[in-house]
Amino acid sequence: MTNSRLPGLHNLTRTQRLALVARETGLAPAQVARLNEAAQIDGDLADMLSENVIGVMGVPLGVATNLIVDGEDVLVPMASEESSVVAAVCNGARACRAAGGVTTEADPPRMIAQLQLIGVEDMAATKALLQGRAEEIAAICNACDPMLVELGGGFRALELREAGEFLVVHLIVDVRDAMGANAVNTMAEALAPDLERWSGARVGLRILSNLADRRLVRARALWPASEIGADMVEGILAAYAFAAADPYRAATHNKGIMNGIDAVALATGNDFRAIEAGAHAYAATRGAPYAPLSRWRRDSAGDLLGEIELPMPVGIVGGATKAHPTAQAALAIMGATSAGRLARVMAAVGLVQNFSAMRALAGEGIQRGHMGLHARNVAIAAGATGAEIERIAQQMVARGEVREDVARALLGDKQDVST
Ligand code: NAD
Repeated sequence: MTNSRLPGLHNLTRTQRLALVARETGLAPAQVARLNEAAQIDGDLADMLSENVIGVMGVPLGVATNLIVDGEDVLVPMASEESSVVAAVCNGARACRAAGGVTTEADPPRMIAQLQLIGVEDMAATKALLQGRAEEIAAICNACDPMLVELGGGFRALELREAGEFLVVHLIVDVRDAMGANAVNTMAEALAPDLERWSGARVGLRILSNLADRRLVRARALWPASEIGADMVEGILAAYAFAAADPYRAATHNKGIMNGIDAVALATGNDFRAIEAGAHAYAATRGAPYAPLSRWRRDSAGDLLGEIELPMPVGIVGGATKAHPTAQAALAIMGATSAGRLARVMAAVGLVQNFSAMRALAGEGIQRGHMGLHARNVAIAAGATGAEIERIAQQMVARGEVREDVARALLGDKQDVST
């Protein structure tokens, strides 16, 4: 039985850690060799980015074509293990190209840090007192990050809210080209002792809010009925109406949007958990109990208009974006030289992804296209290698049976024939 108590694991080298884990878990030598091999190039980098690293998990990096964002063509690197995600952006972007592609706008890059004041006796008096100290608060925050201030960012506003029994202090900070979590967390922690001294209350948590609703990004695009068909416009509007009416459907509608956005986030070294948290929390503020992040309607000419709005806390500096060479290459492919441009392209990708998912669902269903790509994974899982993978995948798709048992049977047939 595995003993999960491995004191000092973090002090070992990566290969020593892997050997220890292999011993504890009875990992096969071939699996150990595979992990070592896969970490040949990026293992040391991974070791710096995270803890107790024993390997590197490779995720396919694809590039979505055909997208125009604000009049400029852009190739979008996307890291995703899920079949059809990249293809969906390519197809959806092609279908709105003739109509000009996607147009976007983004709020200034403002993040929110929260401080929880516990034991405030007089809310109104404490609020007035803290508002009176707004300039001192700004100075304390800005002193934490002279570089950010130099770049035109820094403290922007103080907001005071009541949440249950707590007085919650919001620091609104312009983080320029950073995602900004570390930047604003540092400010919140630096401010805490002064807040306690001034208010006589105790400061509890000091951390950013992932509901980054001061940093919204919006994208819109038109898909001509002449391009996709009037029936498809109708079908997509019915699919959207379903999502608007039912949170069970809205969750999947938004998951489709995030398929694209997360893939760009991962490719560029951004924190996709933060983006996910913000997106879903924002969806919950848009309609009870939970709303689609996009809106769809038909314009007077009968064409399909899609719009999306969501928080987009992404950066091109800080975190892994700067430290990871693949993330740097991904940003270079996109030509994203500001966090704002990256955020706008990501919103466009989310909208186009949403269009393609609804087009598939409203038309032939998602399985045909999806299964064509998924069939390769199934073939690999069944033991196919090299050229067999594509052949077995195609045979399964032709039969309309994409299953591991079918792949095994097909592989068995081949073995019978060849022996
Ligand atoms: P960071 O602290 O690594 O980099 C930001 C700093 O870079 C700024 O404070 C500034 O001093 C400097 N900088 C240099 N050039 C800049 C420019 N052009 N624009 C803005 N700043 C510039 O990173 P961060 O963006 O503050 O934090 C992101 C990291 O925080 C991510 O890795 C994320 O995973 C992590 N994180 C997230 C959460 C959360 O989401 N709840 C919590 C904690 C940490």
